Amino acid sequence: MSSEADIEKIVAQEQGLVFERFDEDIAFALVGHVRDAANAAGKGIAVGVYLWDRTLCIGMTAGASSHNLTWAERKVGTVRLLHKSSYRLVLERGDWLPQEPQNWDAEAVFQQNRYVSKDPWLDKHGKPFQPGSHYFVGGATKMYGAAHFRLRQQDFEELAHFDGTSPAWPLRYADFEPWYQRAEEMYHVHGQRGEDPTEPPCSGPYPHPPVAHEPRMQKLVDDLRAAGLHPFHAPSGVQLDEANMAFSRCRKCNCCDGFPCLVHAKSDAEVLGIRPALACPNVSLLTRAQVKRLHTDASGRTVSGVELERDGEPLTVSGDVVVVSCGAANSARLLLLSANDRHPRGLANGSDQVGRHYMFHNSKAMVALAHEPNRTIFQKTVSINDWYLGDADFDYPMGNIQMTGKTNGTIMKGYAPLETFLMPGWSMDKIAEHALDFWISSEDLPDPNNRVTVTGSGQIQLSYTPNNLTASARLVSRLEGLLDRLYLRKHLVERQFYIANSMGIAAVGHQAGTCRFGSDPATSVLDLNCKAHELDNLYVVDTSFMPTIGAVNPSLTAIANALRVGTHLVERLRG
Ligand SMILES: Cc1cc2nc3c(=O)[nH]c(=O)nc-3n(C[C@H](O)[C@H](O)[C@H](O)COP(=O)(O)OP(=O)(O)OC[C@H]3O[C@@H](n4cnc5c(N)ncnc54)[C@H](O)[C@@H]3O)c2cc1C
Ligand code: SF4
Repeated sequence: MSSEADIEKIVAQEQGLVFERFDEDIAFALVGHVRDAANAAGKGIAVGVYLWDRTLCIGMTAGASSHNLTWAERKVGTVRLLHKSSYRLVLERGDWLPQEPQNWDAEAVFQQNRYVSKDPWLDKHGKPFQPGSHYFVGGATKMYGAAHFRLRQQDFEELAHFDGTSPAWPLRYADFEPWYQRAEEMYHVHGQRGEDPTEPPCSGPYPHPPVAHEPRMQKLVDDLRAAGLHPFHAPSGVQLDEANMAFSRCRKCNCCDGFPCLVHAKSDAEVLGIRPALACPNVSLLTRAQVKRLHTDASGRTVSGVELERDGEPLTVSGDVVVVSCGAANSARLLLLSANDRHPRGLANGSDQVGRHYMFHNSKAMVALAHEPNRTIFQKTVSINDWYLGDADFDYPMGNIQMTGKTNGTIMKGYAPLETFLMPGWSMDKIAEHALDFWISSEDLPDPNNRVTVTGSGQIQLSYTPNNLTASARLVSRLEGLLDRLYLRKHLVERQFYIANSMGIAAVGHQAGTCRFGSDPATSVLDLNCKAHELDNLYVVDTSFMPTIGAVNPSLTAIANALRVGTHLVERLRG
């Protein structure tokens, strides 16, 4: 049955189930009637009739299990919580990412781009490129490295950078702190408080102990400490129990960064967001359902219809509240494509802010080759923030350094197919065996001209001009100088790419900022609850809302914000 038909049926059932009088006898007769009908149809069911404060009658037929009853009880719980029956529909343009051997096959993932979703965008010159997009249930988190950093306290304040100013957020770190704590709990983050010199105040410890360094990483940490730095355990979202590996879901393998997790042990949004939500009886998911356009009522204040296409078939659904979470670029695309008479520049875009201030970090992947072999399997355990806010020689923020997943020859060839075309796989493996793989991130500043627009055919055009590159170059030189001193050789090779070939605009993993939140409708798209200023029932909840991106990975901030806005939505729906 389609979800639209599903909803219509529920509405009809609710309308048909109005009684002039209701008591225990009617409840008993009702259950008996439903039971007889189920028996006649040969169906195993559980049926229950409940008043607000007590259960009147429960019946089960042959073939039903305790799950049927649990389902009914959950449904009752939802009604008691929200004071009305409810139905939540999640629309996802992609499908479930299959659990298959190729999940952990570097050639399939990095060379054949098996999990990159075909959807070419245009650059500012109109040249097409394929971004590193992953349209699956769980979105980009299916492929992410699960490094779960909080933004620094200073990232929420106005911060002077070499190239300009990073503006203050309308809410501050203290407003987000409780949600960060909950996000860390929900996403099973492992880490160690008190090691990172830029760590913001936290209301509790990490929910799980830090992921242990393997010997080469411990040696790196010791070397960094000896050089006067403060390396810390990188916060990592994995369902790992090192004290009891026999029962740990996570195997601590070398496929955590850029691969999907074959055993569903990575803390991604499918495993920890969508799947648990679907256990609620009033939540449904429609996959392969690409939302094409949002319609408003005549006043323009309410989204009245969500137009989508599923397997080529058009469908329209509606709801009291509509939440857009398509990722920064695609959320902007959807709002811009939904222009109508009341919103001629695009939905919620009276201020011409939708799509602007696109950010994605100045990031570089760097490989340091050392004499000593690096046999680390799970390499993402070390991070450095000593230069995050600057140093004595450069009084501006530089950014964060962390380890990437351990590379091998196949991954390196996938990163740079042209440069490595003539090199045999074994020689690349040899290089990788001696490589320390770093990820270096600096903040790119929000620029209104760095923006997402859509062409007449609905294609995304991303106009982006890099900024704040001096900070990034300084951070690279800090790491280079340090490693030269540590390993006495100048062997740092720049590997300028993430999933895509270069860290150019195709590397969209950290995209953010196209629908910034704020108090002033003239300069922001969303209010402080991430509701569109110009509409009463439209929310945008993903990395779009971020006014600045800081220099640490964005997803923990997006998750914390989703929990914050989610709580607001529960209160709103409760009425
Ligand atoms: C390789 C890689 C590594 C990364 N590593 C890290 C890391 O270690 N730490 C970190 O913090 N971040 C990391 N990130 C970034 C992180 O994954 C993103 O910040 C995060 O997933 C953003 O969440 P989102 O909800 O904004 O968007 P997404 O995760 O992109 O989710 C958007 C969803 O909307 C769906 N969608 C889009 N348009 C439509 C439409 N029209 N109709 C219906 N559905 C639609 C998409 O299919 C997708 O499922 C990484 C990203 C990548 C690609
Ligand atoms: S390290 Fe753990 S969470 Fe990551 S891919 Fe391997 S098993 Fe999955």
